[in-house]
Amino acid sequence: MVHLMTLPAHIHVLERGWLSSNNIVFLDPDCPTVVDTGYGTHADQTLALVRQALQGRPLKRILNTHLHSDHAGGNALLQQHYECLTVIPPGLADAVTEWDPDRLSYAPTGQHCPQFRHDAVMTPGDTIELGGDDWQVLGAPGHDNDMVMLWCERHGILISADALWQNGFGVIFPEIVGESGFAEQQATLDLIGQLDPRLVIPGHGAPFTNVKAALDAAQSRIKWLAADPKRNADNALKALLAFKLLAARQMSVNDIAELFRHSAITHKVIAAYYPVAPELMAQVAAEQMVKLGLARREGDMLSALA
Ligand SMILES: [Zn+2]
Repeated sequence: MVHLMTLPAHIHVLERGWLSSNNIVFLDPDCPTVVDTGYGTHADQTLALVRQALQGRPLKRILNTHLHSDHAGGNALLQQHYECLTVIPPGLADAVTEWDPDRLSYAPTGQHCPQFRHDAVMTPGDTIELGGDDWQVLGAPGHDNDMVMLWCERHGILISADALWQNGFGVIFPEIVGESGFAEQQATLDLIGQLDPRLVIPGHGAPFTNVKAALDAAQSRIKWLAADPKRNADNALKALLAFKLLAARQMSVNDIAELFRHSAITHKVIAAYYPVAPELMAQVAAEQMVKLGLARREGDMLSALA
């Protein structure tokens, strides 16, 4: 069945690729707002797109669903250009104040995020007014145990961040670092099921209305991952390398080995599941990027295809 539903006119989804998250612009007359700001190296493009979507209005507020580098990488540049309030989930507020790249995941993932400030937090249970509607802040642990989603009951719209995409959800990173994440992701999916959204605006990819199909697939996937944690670890390795390759455009096999040596997350995964030298693992991973259609290889050099 095809469900036809269009977004209210004051909500503009700037659909980006995988390196940058989507940016959701609310043309609120009093408080023009953007939810999530993309990756740092795309910040100029984010600023241009947000400026265009705002049609001359000044940006007054940034909301971040979570602080991964692909969701908060445009914060700094937007803060330079606009006098805007930046609101983040409470879990890592101290880490932002102290600017701790380890706790903020940028160091252990080998990713980059220009330093930004935050002005306020949004805590699960809070209600935020956006474009004249109430949006509820909901905790969405699993991919990131500090992540939140935004839910508008009136329109039946969920901003799901990386908790639910049309096809899957983000890597369950807490499990990689020895914390619980599978049970949390399961509970987050159950919560989305109870909300029964008419439309989901995901962190990556186009908004979608076939929510039940996406949820069913996500439910089977989380059970499949939880049954063998190596599956999640493999995904983490693949996702982090693909991300790095997208950002760098080109990487040598030696660059990959360097990433595996220096990123704490990939290091952990390799130590736990692939007891081989980083150089050998880099060869295996390079082949995999080619097999997945993400890269072209000439000699020892990989070039991103996406
Ligand atoms: Zn994320």
